[in-house]
Amino acid sequence: MSFPRRQARPNPTVGFAFEKPTRQPVENKAQQRRSLRSETPRRVERESVFRPYVDWLHADGAVCVVCGESITERIQGAHVGQGGTGKTHGSIADTIRLCGDRPGRKGCHAQHDANGTMPGFFHLWSRVRLRDWDHEQRLAHWEAFRAWAGLELQALAEANDQDLIASSAKALMECDEAISVRIDDLRSGGR
Ligand SMILES: [Zn+2]
Repeated sequence: MSFPRRQARPNPTVGFAFEKPTRQPVENKAQQRRSLRSETPRRVERESVFRPYVDWLHADGAVCVVCGESITERIQGAHVGQGGTGKTHGSIADTIRLCGDRPGRKGCHAQHDANGTMPGFFHLWSRVRLRDWDHEQRLAHWEAFRAWAGLELQALAEANDQDLIASSAKALMECDEAISVRIDDLRSGGR
């Protein structure tokens, strides 16, 4: 998948009290090439295939898998497994639905990331128990996503809208394929 190059836009803050300075055009050709390339790091491109999964994770009807919180805005994609809990190194595919904090109560996301030290669902869980739970949850999420993607693709096919098929269906199929590879990886002993 490729991204369109980011085009310079006219300054939308013209006339504001604190106008944003317009970026100076880059003169040097070599410098320009470097800056264009750096805008789309390889990692971002590799991860973009999972965007439909992330959209599904936060879609209406999403609930926290621990407490059943169903307010969509409170559902967060919690990193589990590979890359470590709460780490930024994991793939966005390794995220599950857990709720964020609310006034007076820590959310299940924070409880999960506390590695058993916080009272609540995960209190006093061992590292192994947490890891096994993360493992099961990822598989369950990925299977649920694939089931949903299958229905979506069916609906898209029935709508018979070529533009929609070209845009949504392609991304959905690529994501479904990538997720199915992750399922196989995890089932065959991957982390
Ligand atoms: Zn929760």
